[in-house]
Amino acid sequence: MQQTRTIAIFTDLDGTLLDHDDYRWDAARPAIERIRSLSIPLIAVSSKTLAELDHIQLNYGLFDGLIGENGGVISLGGEVEQPGPSSQTIDSARDAIIAAVNVPLGSFRTVPPEMIATETGLTLDDAIRAGQRHCSDPLIWQPSEQDIEIATDIASQFSLKLVKGGRFHTLCGPSNKGAAMKRMLERLVVSGRLGDGADDTHATKTAITTIALGDSANDIPMLAAADIAVQIPPKRGIRSEPLLTHSDLRIAPYPGPEGWNAALQSILDQIINTNNKSEVLHG
Ligand SMILES: [Mg+2]
Repeated sequence: MQQTRTIAIFTDLDGTLLDHDDYRWDAARPAIERIRSLSIPLIAVSSKTLAELDHIQLNYGLFDGLIGENGGVISLGGEVEQPGPSSQTIDSARDAIIAAVNVPLGSFRTVPPEMIATETGLTLDDAIRAGQRHCSDPLIWQPSEQDIEIATDIASQFSLKLVKGGRFHTLCGPSNKGAAMKRMLERLVVSGRLGDGADDTHATKTAITTIALGDSANDIPMLAAADIAVQIPPKRGIRSEPLLTHSDLRIAPYPGPEGWNAALQSILDQIINTNNKSEVLHG
């Protein structure tokens, strides 16, 4: 049996491929061009909405597939799949929370984009895209501890979670970046974008190497599910401790796109050297 090896790369955006402050990715261009020349699929995996990711893709054309809302929604070749909870479940849970808590409550799925812009500092166009949510809903409220307890209880009755991010409590499902990455891999293989597609049965066996890059706690399930995990260090402050225990965890030498570029170049050097000795590499 002939063995071939293919590679797929999954990357977080903010603080990983995109600079923490100015959202630039230019420093990663050499690695991105190398990935393209090798026909290796590059998948964005983000807490952003699909509308936000589509907008980035429209401007830069960097990705072969998109995973949004922390793994809740997957887009490949224009086909959208929602492993996260249904929008209806999110709305029912939020409405139950509104009825039960003692403070006024709006959310990204319900308020006008002008209010999202005010709350976040986004431009109106960006706020419109941030509000186009499939399966997670940041709440706009000033809760007491008791309100948070009530909302958390109601979320769990709908099999949802209430997660406190940097600024908002977000109502969301149990889906995560790791599970969505595995689903995306299946779809890449079935669609023929990775491996030998439908022929990947008898004559050849494709070994797929997954590489994931991320910088924070919500990337851990994705890093854990990858063969090679790259942790991007923070731009400021002390050098980060490893986010997880992993048999092949690399900590990038620099933050943001510089670190992204350096880590991937060295991994590709290593894999391609191995391939030259024993295996066939193809994208
Ligand atoms: Mg990040």
